Amino acid sequence: MPRMPPYGEFIFGHEYAGDVVAVGRTVDEFQVGDRVVVEAHMGCRRCENCIRGLYTACLNYGNAKRGHRANGFTTNGGLAEYALNHVNTLYRIPDGVSYEEATVVMTSGSPLFGLENAGGYFAGETVAVLGPGPIGLMAIQLVKALGATRVILTGTRASRLAMGRQLGADVLVNSREDDAVAAVMDATAGKGADLVIDCAGGDETFDHSLKMVKSGGKVLLVAFYHGPVTADVSHAVRRNVTIYTERGEGGTSVGRALALLAAGRLTAKPLITHQFPLSRVHEAFEVLEKRIGDPLKVILNP
Ligand SMILES: [Zn+2]
Repeated sequence: MPRMPPYGEFIFGHEYAGDVVAVGRTVDEFQVGDRVVVEAHMGCRRCENCIRGLYTACLNYGNAKRGHRANGFTTNGGLAEYALNHVNTLYRIPDGVSYEEATVVMTSGSPLFGLENAGGYFAGETVAVLGPGPIGLMAIQLVKALGATRVILTGTRASRLAMGRQLGADVLVNSREDDAVAAVMDATAGKGADLVIDCAGGDETFDHSLKMVKSGGKVLLVAFYHGPVTADVSHAVRRNVTIYTERGEGGTSVGRALALLAAGRLTAKPLITHQFPLSRVHEAFEVLEKRIGDPLKVILNP
């Protein structure tokens, strides 16, 4: 990530929840004992983007002296017993929602913010989601909650596609076995999807997104790509396609996602595949990195 301090000099972890154990002098929004979940980004509140509410695109990103914080990215995060958060970055966890679920809900903040950028209203539309990782699996549920009629999910692993089905995907495409673009065009009578969300970030998925979207449709890029990628952008220009991005969980999206979870429109539990005590943090990272036991979300507890 940009402006990330060198390894060993700060604490990782941008998705975390816990209890309030102390509050600042002027804080009356929260009390000691409140159960809270965080969002990572705290804008500087003085640049023109922050003033306009675009705090995840703060122009002082990484400049702690000017008040910017991105816990777990540029400032200390949550893989610790205690963490320091600005009051703006806390949300009270609704009754009946566990710390673990609340932590995973933070994952849905980014796609939800992206969906807001892309119009936020998908009633009656067909949406293609590329990549059934944690963000893609959240995106499926979010577009359904926002009215999408049909979700087409593309991915390479059968177990992940099956999870996508469980969470609301209507059409599954194994892109290792089938041509994902052709499959989406087939499933939409040759028109393409109204909205394509790239949650995969593969070498070809941006190009595929442009080719499987309907003329006049929308492409939302949520994934980070490993490096520069090649895509037939003219194909999008000729067909009046609009491309959206998002940065982080802006727009108070974590709080809104929590509301969806509390209302039963979003579920986080199936994504929690592993849990470890914080003392076994290295083992937890190994599970994630080497994909031992098909991990989705690995939770670390005190
Ligand atoms: Zn700012």
